[in-house]
Amino acid sequence: MELLYRSTRNHETAVTASQAILQGLAGDGGLFVPDQIPALDVSLEKLAGMTYQETAYEVMKLFLTDFTEEELKRCIACAYDGKFDTPQIAPLRKADEAWYLELFHGATIAFKDMALSILPYLMTTAAKKNQVKNEIVILTATSGDTGKAALAGFADVPGTRIIVFYPKNGVSPIQEKQMVTQKGTNTYVVGITGNFDDAQSGVKKIFGDETLRREMNAAGFQFSSANSINIGRLVPQIVYYVYAYAKLLAGGEIEPGEKINVTVPTGNFGNILAACYAKHMGIPIEKLICASNDNKVLVDFFRTGAYDRNRKFVLTTSPSMDILISSNLERLIYQIAGQDAKKNAALMEELSRKGRYEITPNMMAKLGDFYGNYATEQEAAEEIALVYRKAGYVLDTHTAVASRVYRKYREETGDGTKTVIASTASPYKFTRSVMDAIEPGHEDCTDFELVDRLSALSGIKVPRAIEEIRTAPVLHDTVVETEGMKDAVLSILKMNR
Ligand SMILES: *Cc1c(COP(=O)(O)O)cnc(C)c1O
Repeated sequence: MELLYRSTRNHETAVTASQAILQGLAGDGGLFVPDQIPALDVSLEKLAGMTYQETAYEVMKLFLTDFTEEELKRCIACAYDGKFDTPQIAPLRKADEAWYLELFHGATIAFKDMALSILPYLMTTAAKKNQVKNEIVILTATSGDTGKAALAGFADVPGTRIIVFYPKNGVSPIQEKQMVTQKGTNTYVVGITGNFDDAQSGVKKIFGDETLRREMNAAGFQFSSANSINIGRLVPQIVYYVYAYAKLLAGGEIEPGEKINVTVPTGNFGNILAACYAKHMGIPIEKLICASNDNKVLVDFFRTGAYDRNRKFVLTTSPSMDILISSNLERLIYQIAGQDAKKNAALMEELSRKGRYEITPNMMAKLGDFYGNYATEQEAAEEIALVYRKAGYVLDTHTAVASRVYRKYREETGDGTKTVIASTASPYKFTRSVMDAIEPGHEDCTDFELVDRLSALSGIKVPRAIEEIRTAPVLHDTVVETEGMKDAVLSILKMNR
């Protein structure tokens, strides 16, 4: 049976999974959602014996129903291979009172790799399926993590090019080095003199340029997006929650059918929504614990039912969670509105007009699966030190927020349900903040000196992704004014007259 996708803002048109992946965002600004969330058709006991790749197939085949078995298995095999530094792909590590699901063993040592290693294959397969002849040009603005993961995913993938814009003075030294050393004949990295918002608006403007779209088409190109609202990023993220449950079962840590909690450090609401989908597919999950940093717009939402972005944007040591509009929340709003696209569209319209909306008590009553809380900068740093002292395990700054929120949840509720915490980045990606937490006083050290000190303290080998950039040559050094972004694209595609 074919599963179709519709916009959260308009029920009229339905598209196939491959079309939803190619389009990214629906034409009306809504997000694509499946008509229903399919139930797993293989037993948990059977899943317990499966590899990551086999689990991925069992989950993804139910969502991407217009992909053939051969196509999907090929995408999975190409994505989850030696790029990951462990054959388990997403290993579980017990430390202190929880299981940390390590989602950072891919090419760029952050959880974005879990979906961005497969998205390029899904997208090129989808293009073939839909007789798209154009070369696909992925255009991305980044504040650090997404850009590198997308570059690594799309590098040398036939039929695609990727152009990443980043704020020249707005990313960490390690993040910049990771991007400007990116290999691949189809990768382009361009610094801009503006900030991240300028990069983001510039990209949106290029996407919306009708004349450019026609010229691109004539030259054999079309734009697409690797943004986290693409269903091709959401579906692969469901896999590791199914896998984690199956591995707990296989290891005798839980009884068949025993419920677990899941805690997720949240920004754009993509990762935790994937956990919610895993629950609806039949994985016994009790609570979805949504962890925020000081940008706690979601905490307030779960407590009051009012989503209000009118507040100060706070820069924290967990930058990938510094976000005031959690785009993927729209998919949950649509669901609790009883799949009422009109109702959802009205709320989203209010959000863009007033920066605020409020859900009804009836909708609020459907949020019982969720618990929201946050950790301050100091609490997150204390958590890194605490877990290191108690268990010898080093958390990154984002995972520390989740870990601290889980601690608060336990203290508040007394709930002893076994809990998986999504561990979204390697501590090596945020070495300075991590070192400040466990061994302060290294202000004079370079980032790479801190990397070596962290390795000595943690006993964990420096990841390949960091070793590589230590000595890698800079391959991208273009910097343009914000106004020059379109010209940069034309020049890269050799379309400038
Ligand atoms: C992107 C990111 C997050 C937030 O994930 P969402 O899906 O946007 O909620 C958390 N931690 C890290 C390290 C990330 O890169």
